[in-house]
Amino acid sequence: MSRGKAAPPAGNPTLLKREVNELMRASLRLRDERIAFFCECADASCYQAVWLTCAEYDEARADPEWLALVGGHQPDRPGAGRARDRRN
Ligand SMILES: [Zn+2]
Repeated sequence: MSRGKAAPPAGNPTLLKREVNELMRASLRLRDERIAFFCECADASCYQAVWLTCAEYDEARADPEWLALVGGHQPDRPGAGRARDRRN
């Protein structure tokens, strides 16, 4: 069984939501406007927004351990994520 990039493993909400965020980011060229990315926490029912510009997203995504997380939400593995929602 192969795991292609287009088919994230079922049952891993973080990978699924990350995939959606990647697709959304790839379709956008806005640099300065904030975009609502999905929270990539371990909760499959969580689709809260993490507001980031594309530039912020690109910068953060350069770190392979980074996850877009709403403050207080838990990553799928300890130490994996950091909240980078900079609305304040
Ligand atoms: Zn969440």
